[in-house]
Amino acid sequence: MSKTKKLGEGTYAIVYLGQLKADPSSQVAIKKIKVNTEYRDGLSMDAIREVKYLQELSHPNIIALHAVFSSKNQNLNLVLEFLPLGDLEMLIKDSEGIRYGTAEVKAWMGMLGRAVWFCHENFVLHRDIKPNNLLIAADGEVKLADFGLARSFSDPYRPMTYQVITRWNRPPELLYGARFYSGAVDVWSMGTVFAELILRVPYMAGNTDIHQLELICQAIGTPTEENWPGVSKLEGYVGYEKAVTVPVRGKDFYLARFGTAGSVGVDLLMSLLALDPRKRSTARQMLEHKWWTTDPRPTAKEDLPKKG
Ligand code: ADP
Repeated sequence: MSKTKKLGEGTYAIVYLGQLKADPSSQVAIKKIKVNTEYRDGLSMDAIREVKYLQELSHPNIIALHAVFSSKNQNLNLVLEFLPLGDLEMLIKDSEGIRYGTAEVKAWMGMLGRAVWFCHENFVLHRDIKPNNLLIAADGEVKLADFGLARSFSDPYRPMTYQVITRWNRPPELLYGARFYSGAVDVWSMGTVFAELILRVPYMAGNTDIHQLELICQAIGTPTEENWPGVSKLEGYVGYEKAVTVPVRGKDFYLARFGTAGSVGVDLLMSLLALDPRKRSTARQMLEHKWWTTDPRPTAKEDLPKKG
């Protein structure tokens, strides 16, 4: 294996382009997880989790992990499928250069839904679904990446940390500090990605966790014991007795904002953004929704818009 050039740098890693010595025409991405920082322990645990789960998950909509090796200073290197065409966030933001409509959104959401369904079938929560973690392959396939926060949820009695998921995509149960949560956290994030694909700006972009909750109350409705039995027992629940309680938004509210997805598309969006995680649709129910068979049919992956 040899590194050829630097592809990019994130918070926890530097990514290089590489090729396998045995096959000089091959291209792989080598993700070198940064260690020797003050967060060393936390980061290396994230890295180990990423490795463990990615190696087990083989699916067309999940980034492939070819190999793992450690280099000097015990740096961890992941040899990943090379995905040169950027991510969904880049497409969403390029509203001058890239045009797309409901058929494209349907294709992307279908690929995301199948990736998440496959994770959940295998007892893995992704926990950081956002447009920036949806990478695009040369054939147009969207692949879920960055499993740094994923962990198995097969043991329902083991409390989990709630400081996961980038704020804008974080579900209300995590903002309230829930320690026992389920695949529904990823389903909420899929709902926020769906909304952002349609609007081409993040739907609920909070500056702080409190602000994020305020935006959820405005956009979805205020969580109460009536619409979400048990919510007031969550550690971080803020009582809204004195504040104005926003009733759960009805279909007309969504149609006014997301009407381009059609009435059936709006039904799906509302089922992903249900406040009570038990009422939220599951990834499987999402894939069984009638939106997929309603016109327009999803765009074929080779016809999807690409960067540049
Ligand atoms: P971030 O989460 O901030 O995007 P990453 O560490 O995941 O950080 O990646 C840093 C950059 O490296 C990305 O923005 C992207 O440009 C590039 N990159 C990451 N993974 C791949 C890959 N599998 N193939 C090609 N480029 C990649």
